[in-house]
Amino acid sequence: MTDSHAPTDVVTRFAPSPTGYLHIGGARTALFNWLFTRRHGGRFLIRVEDTDRERSTEAAVKAIFDGLDWLGLTADAPPVFQHARADRHREVVDTLVEKGHAYRDWTSTEETGRLRDEARAEKRTFVSPWRDRDPAEGDLNQPHVVRFRRPLDTRVTLDDAVQGPVNWRAEDLDDLVLLRSDGNPTYNLAVVADDHDMGVTHIIRGDDHLNNGARQALIYDALGWTRPVFAHIPLIHGPDGAKLSKRHGAQAVHEYADMGYLPEAMRNYLARLGWAHGDDELFNDAQAIEWFDLSGINKAPARLDFAKLAHVNA
Ligand code: GLU
Repeated sequence: MTDSHAPTDVVTRFAPSPTGYLHIGGARTALFNWLFTRRHGGRFLIRVEDTDRERSTEAAVKAIFDGLDWLGLTADAPPVFQHARADRHREVVDTLVEKGHAYRDWTSTEETGRLRDEARAEKRTFVSPWRDRDPAEGDLNQPHVVRFRRPLDTRVTLDDAVQGPVNWRAEDLDDLVLLRSDGNPTYNLAVVADDHDMGVTHIIRGDDHLNNGARQALIYDALGWTRPVFAHIPLIHGPDGAKLSKRHGAQAVHEYADMGYLPEAMRNYLARLGWAHGDDELFNDAQAIEWFDLSGINKAPARLDFAKLAHVNA
């Protein structure tokens, strides 16, 4: 791992949470990252986001790696397990506190809930009283969380490679918790620290993380770290246009393998879920790598079409 990277070295990552099998959406995200990296000659990395110790399982880690292996999406370095990096995450939180970009918050859960309700009733965003209190009044030995001190009166803009420029009022984003009272980092903090340390230059992932992108951008800025390029891809919908669910049929990659689909057909099919190259329906890996570009990703959700999958498999 390195703290700095040449801007021309493309580094992407696939960062699954090991709470279930590898589903089609995750496989497509992994494939887009892999294709982009192969196209630009960089490194494709895998990070297992296992900080949620209760929901993460060994079986899911295995299922995800089996699915990626079957698809032929091999990483260029051993996987990073996020859970093992908790000390580094706490170190980054300390840096943010030292720089004044984060603060310790001793408000109890009950009191936070009450203040949150009060703020909602008055149509304003909740702000912890500790944002402006003297931290010397708090006791480091007592349970507390660490919150990000988002800048107020500013807008955060993401120049997203798929969505175009998107912006938020920083004020609307909340002073998010970076470290829980049990000392464990939260998702947004861990992701920024890991992506930075892994030298990730391009974050290609589902657009359900777009709002997190804004929060993460603010953390990068506060740390003085260069933001990666964000590319949030629209999710996959069922043939009827509704959010993908079990009733649309197989969702796990291994189910397709069990049905006799070939990995090449699956890659071709997944590549075309939300990305197109002219009217070309069938292409081999070399062509996909040559043609793949973030600008070719659709802004509208992709729709599953099982007839097309059967066609490419034939
Ligand atoms: N672990 C997250 C997920 O599975 C992805 C996080 C990311 O790509 O930044 O949804």
